[in-house]
Amino acid sequence: MRVARGITELRLALSDGRRGLVPTMGAFHEGHLTLMRAARAECDQVVVSLFVNPTQFGASDDLDRYPRDDEHDAQLAEAEGVDVLFIPPAEEMYPAGFATWIDVNASGGEATARPGHFRGVATVCVKLFNLVRPDVAFFGQKDAQQVAVLRRVIDDLNLNVHLRVLPTARDADGLALSSRNAYLSPEEREQALALPRALEVGRAAADPVAAARAALNGLEPEYVELLRVGDATLLTAAARVGSTRLIDNVVVEGDLG
Ligand code: AMP
Repeated sequence: MRVARGITELRLALSDGRRGLVPTMGAFHEGHLTLMRAARAECDQVVVSLFVNPTQFGASDDLDRYPRDDEHDAQLAEAEGVDVLFIPPAEEMYPAGFATWIDVNASGGEATARPGHFRGVATVCVKLFNLVRPDVAFFGQKDAQQVAVLRRVIDDLNLNVHLRVLPTARDADGLALSSRNAYLSPEEREQALALPRALEVGRAAADPVAAARAALNGLEPEYVELLRVGDATLLTAAARVGSTRLIDNVVVEGDLG
């Protein structure tokens, strides 16, 4: 595996053949590894990007404390047969004078809860698509609204990349894996289980939103909403457990594709 710590190194490391890109912010867990495995199975060259993208964090978000361990991540990526791990410096992704943004019209869910978030996500992903030029890019259902936004961007800007969406990897007790789970104390982790459990209750109910809200066991949600992603309807929710913000979703109907 080559570790490319800049754009020039990345360009030198790209080779011919079907290329897969897995965009990440690092602190790899089984969810990230699932995406890498899917890319490895489908593509000749697998590029994983590791970039904690500052522009998708709000002023009061956790950018400064976001978990980082590049060395360990590199070991995990190598073990999955990744060809290139791209770890660009922020100054190369956002050079002085940077002034061009992909601003997607999105509402509800994360778009409303985190103003500017998807502008940062869409901008960095388009940059990564342009730099890596993947045939296929791999994303997790965990961030379903991100998938909806990126599909919009790809269609609207005629980008030549296919999106693959992989199911959410969970711990045995149902908690969706997230780099942010590292912030949770044992008690908070226990409280956090109310989120996937409530979504499960909601999934099978006549009124999924009301049923999930009622099953949150005292956890105060930022939102519980139905979200349309392609042909699928998802029940999505966000909640804070202590100072940690968690999101999760389940498919209520249809197929994410
Ligand atoms: P992140 O590093 O959190 O920005 O996530 C990078 C990619 O991994 C995104 O496409 C996420 O949707 C995906 N991902 C994060 N958590 C999970 C999970 N538990 N299961 C599957 N994919 C995930």
